[in-house]
Amino acid sequence: EEEEGEGEEYLFKVVIIGDSAVGKSNLLSRYARNEFNLHSKATIGVEFQTQSMDIDGKEVKAQIWDTAGQERFRAVTSAYYRGAFGTLLVYDISRRSSFDSIARWLDELNTHSDTTIMRMLVGNKCDLETLREVSIEEGKALAEAEGLFFIETSALDSTNVKTAFEIVIKEIYNNVS
Ligand code: GDP
Ligand code: MG
Repeated sequence: EEEEGEGEEYLFKVVIIGDSAVGKSNLLSRYARNEFNLHSKATIGVEFQTQSMDIDGKEVKAQIWDTAGQERFRAVTSAYYRGAFGTLLVYDISRRSSFDSIARWLDELNTHSDTTIMRMLVGNKCDLETLREVSIEEGKALAEAEGLFFIETSALDSTNVKTAFEIVIKEIYNNVS
């Protein structure tokens, strides 16, 4: 017999989607390595990063996938979404068009994954308050209408980055355990 908490393994795939340049790669590098790049190029090679967190004394691992820039060509494939338990749908609060695109990303998500996938709407670049084009209220309203969790983040100054990923991972864990 297994002892409580031993031999149990949790590994959840989480995917990050959203328009090009909203800060997807920087959110992941901030979370996984505490790094930020002002002039980041499209990710090449690395498909995902694995991060562990402790929940109820259990080690829960998240395999977090970043696009390799293929979103620019609207060419994110079904393989990217396959097996995902959670997703961060990212827009840039200083770029209205990236917020308008969320509807299309939701459609794409619905085509490629089942409805039980945990979905978090992320308004990134909240450090750019003076350039804001999407209010917090608009973000909240969309999230409420679509049944998404909602948070604003800044990969640049780290605001809410850890929290955003941890909410997603905890919520997935709560749903499966
Ligand atoms: P991706 O195409 O969605 O992966 O976006 P990147 O992570 O490559 O970021 C695109 C650009 O936005 C880069 O120049 C980043 O430095 C910048 N960026 C990313 N996150 C933030 C943020 O939170 N605040 C600000 N001010 N810039 C950011
Ligand atoms: Mg990227």
